[in-house]
Amino acid sequence: MKLYNTLTKKKEEFLPIEEGKVKMYVCGPTVYNYIHIGNARPMICFDTVRRYFEYKGYEVNYVSNFTDVDDKIINKAIEEGIPASDVAEKYIRECKKDMADLNIKPATKNPKATEEISGMLDMIQTLIQKGYAYEKSGTVYFRTRKFEHYGKLSKKNLDELEAGKRIAVEEQKEDAMDFVLWKPKKEGEPYWESPWGNGRPGWHIECSVMSKKYLGDTIDIHAGGEDLIFPHHENEIAQSEAANGAEFAHYWLHNAFLNINNKKMSKSLGNFFTVREIGEKYDLQVLRFFMLSAHYRSPLNFSEDLMESSKNGLERIVTAYQRLQDILKRAEGELRAEEQEKADKIQDYVQKFQEAMEDDFNTADAIAAIFELVKFMNVELTEESSNALAQCFEKNMKALAEVLGIILQQQEEILDAEIEDLIQERQEARKSKDFARADEIRDVLLEKGIVLKDTREGVQWKRV
Ligand code: AMP
Ligand code: ZN
Repeated sequence: MKLYNTLTKKKEEFLPIEEGKVKMYVCGPTVYNYIHIGNARPMICFDTVRRYFEYKGYEVNYVSNFTDVDDKIINKAIEEGIPASDVAEKYIRECKKDMADLNIKPATKNPKATEEISGMLDMIQTLIQKGYAYEKSGTVYFRTRKFEHYGKLSKKNLDELEAGKRIAVEEQKEDAMDFVLWKPKKEGEPYWESPWGNGRPGWHIECSVMSKKYLGDTIDIHAGGEDLIFPHHENEIAQSEAANGAEFAHYWLHNAFLNINNKKMSKSLGNFFTVREIGEKYDLQVLRFFMLSAHYRSPLNFSEDLMESSKNGLERIVTAYQRLQDILKRAEGELRAEEQEKADKIQDYVQKFQEAMEDDFNTADAIAAIFELVKFMNVELTEESSNALAQCFEKNMKALAEVLGIILQQQEEILDAEIEDLIQERQEARKSKDFARADEIRDVLLEKGIVLKDTREGVQWKRV
């Protein structure tokens, strides 16, 4: 399997650190609002990468963080007159809901920055001890010049970077490219105690610490949007490799940006959509399918027209699968001799799909292979076909759809899990006295024909 490594700027053969296992870290969102459709791109693309590894039999340890302390969260908290932790908690919950609707598999672990402060203090201490960091009146900086490989991911050179950069008056850095590991508390902001006074961490340190804690010093894959290559990922490498004395990640994967009608998405241009907004108009499966219609390293343009054609494409696959289910119910018997050729041809399409995915996860070509399989099935699978042939189509369609995270048929179990999640969320809302949200959840469930009953033993539900 080949994947494009930003570090070497080449497609490379994937060689895991440990046979049959993949350790993967994906930078997650800063939770101060509903996630936008740009944020959904890395989530969907790297979830699909994970699914393909699992399809190949790998065990994937998938870690993705939530940045739950940050200027944007603090500003939102001030705007709304609520604690920053409430803002973060709310949007983590909402983000998880969107992710479920996008059929993104839950991560093995979703660490939160605020729950990992002690690990950050430890790593900063280590960096100071090793001479890679220094403190100036409550701020700790990373000494960029001391890390000789600085710039290896973004291919930037410190001297060039520094040419255009000046140290602001209020900063006390030794060097313009030094970056913050810890900053002192400001009035009204959340803070934690540290050997350098009360304060909070800089952004980059959290990923270095969480990746080390949950996956170890060296991991297979680190991923995120291409805007993170510099400075975020470059700084993560500097911190981790300086502190651990080991290579941080073998493969660096970056998705290109999602634009809207060929323009950069931005609130000020009024072309900014949250996943939730798109979900009001389309099943979010369509958004997922649309995202996978392009290779993850190609820029992708979002427009109504493209969403409509994704919707039609997805419908074509789902309709073909429903027809297959109908035939499967009635079809009988073993594979007939004259059907062998058809069964072999199915394998050709599967192979085509695999080849596309083996080539740096080319989901666009993988989808094309599924369309070809669907077309073949619509012609070759008939009421006269044997049960064995129908099963062969079903098994392969299911396996390929599972890799892309396409839901071919709503399953009762999925629905049950959704109900349980909503009930759980309602309990939490009640605990935090958010009765409006709790009532809202009861109503949403009622609309779906689910009645809740609060009993001594907990909440019980039934379909009506
Ligand atoms: P943030 O919350 O800004 O840190 O973003 C979370 C993730 O979304 C990062 O991996 C970003 O690179 C990615 N991201 C943000 N905007 C876009 C976009 N328009 N297209 C693709 N990825 C994006
Ligand atoms: Zn990160």
